[in-house]
Amino acid sequence: MTVESTAALCARHADASAVATCARCGSFLCGECLELLGESAFCAPCVSLRRSEGPASRAAWGALWLGVMGLVVLPCTLAMPLPPLVAGVGGVVLGMREAGRIRRGESPAKGRVPARVAYVLGWLTLGVLSAWLLFWGWLYFAASGDRG
Ligand SMILES: [Zn+2]
Ligand SMILES: [Zn+2]
Repeated sequence: MTVESTAALCARHADASAVATCARCGSFLCGECLELLGESAFCAPCVSLRRSEGPASRAAWGALWLGVMGLVVLPCTLAMPLPPLVAGVGGVVLGMREAGRIRRGESPAKGRVPARVAYVLGWLTLGVLSAWLLFWGWLYFAASGDRG
């Protein structure tokens, strides 16, 4: 065995022998570079590429669902302010977290739009909710002021 051995070497680590080839670009991978997606081996750039091409993550849709639900249950704010509050906060938090994951390449880029919409809808819900509560609070104090 010499350094000029014909055994394939890792494309990134010249001193490591390859154990697999990337299923997408075909570059040689050592055990350290190898990333498995299902049954196939991929290099790190191809894994992130596949992620960015994939459909939006469930977290992105979940955030969007919460954001929409916040607006849907908004009319019952008067009776129960809790559901829109929870949905609004959930939409903002989940949307923000998912947007961060997409920026770091951990989630598919397609989730960017639902995550952003969830974030905006969540703030909208919270904004309307607080305006609504302030209005009723003001009415309540005005009415009790009249009586007293
Ligand atoms: Zn590759
Ligand atoms: Zn390597």
